[in-house]
Amino acid sequence: MLDILIIGGGPIGIACGLAAQKAGLSFVIVEKGCLVNSLYNYPSTMTFFSTSEKLEIGGVPFVTNSYKPVRAEALEYYRRVATSNHLPVNLFEEVTGVKKEDGSFIITTAKASYRAKNVIISTGFYDIPVKLNIPGEDLPKVKHYYQDPNYYALQKVVVVGSSNSAIDVALETYRKGAEVTLVIRGADVGERVKYWIRPDIMNRIKEGSIKAYFKSNLKAIRQYEVDIETPEGLVTIPNDFVMAMTGYQPNFEFLKKIGIKLSEDRFVPEYNHTTMETNVAGLYLAGVVVGGMDTHLWFIENSRIHADMIIGDIVGKVEKL
Ligand SMILES: Cc1cc2nc3c(=O)[nH]c(=O)nc-3n(C[C@H](O)[C@H](O)[C@H](O)COP(=O)(O)OP(=O)(O)OC[C@H]3O[C@@H](n4cnc5c(N)ncnc54)[C@H](O)[C@@H]3O)c2cc1C
Repeated sequence: MLDILIIGGGPIGIACGLAAQKAGLSFVIVEKGCLVNSLYNYPSTMTFFSTSEKLEIGGVPFVTNSYKPVRAEALEYYRRVATSNHLPVNLFEEVTGVKKEDGSFIITTAKASYRAKNVIISTGFYDIPVKLNIPGEDLPKVKHYYQDPNYYALQKVVVVGSSNSAIDVALETYRKGAEVTLVIRGADVGERVKYWIRPDIMNRIKEGSIKAYFKSNLKAIRQYEVDIETPEGLVTIPNDFVMAMTGYQPNFEFLKKIGIKLSEDRFVPEYNHTTMETNVAGLYLAGVVVGGMDTHLWFIENSRIHADMIIGDIVGKVEKL
């Protein structure tokens, strides 16, 4: 029987593995995709807003060319941290069930079944997009993920949202020759947009090179046009692609199924803020999955400490026995 099974091989799952290894505990990390799957699926052009030392895990230096790393450097870093420490990671193996039985856990995947005394859930929030729930959302031209701006050159692109992701998509596709229209629910560009990006988008909107509808909602998507509800009434514009950058959410069904209580309003899981243990004894949460619908509250910078908190608690329990 393992001391710990870690679900999710993102930066925080790997950080938990490093901490468990240091403490001499037996463990396996089980990841449904490739190593650091979420980062792999980020836009190819992305630059982290954090400086590299704030993304370090297990005390391993993250050396980068510029003070803010790009996606490729982060992929390189987390892979090297995992491989040079010989962390046991099983990839492309999705965990489908976690059941507590006789004081330990049975964890099932499509390939195997594991038994562990403790389980750490570090499954992030990047797998499930927040849907618009409007007609036409299932058309192939509607994207919730964005890889590369070149694909959208000379196309009419509607970007829904005003968070960092939406604004990055709007600016990058505009600079590759797309005709960009932003549809923003609020009266202004999102307040959390990076301070060095905000003037760029505000000036593009002001000069009219990016069109923005504020206090507006996308109402329907058809193959060659979209309907936008604006304060001036319904507007229909020609359209080739819709980039629905409306955020992502943790897999709440999975959390509920394995017995974790969620708050009624924002689906925030119940957990001890000192140990990260949930209402199910021996079941821990690590990383951005702890935020419920408030996914902006947690990121690598401020959640990497969960690894030491959890392993400290598990070691403390073992010492008490
Ligand atoms: C564009 C962008 C830029 C960002 N920039 C920064 C930044 O500058 N600084 C910062 O600190 N944060 C940043 N973040 C946030 C940060 O990248 C995430 O918070 C980070 O990935 C969280 O790490 P995690 O390990 O908690 O979750 P994730 O990296 O999402 O890892 C979770 C893993 O669990 C796996 N998984 C899910 N379900 C299962 C299952 N059932 N079975 C097995 N495996 C499963 C997933 O495939 C995934 O690999 C950014 C995010 C985005 C989208």
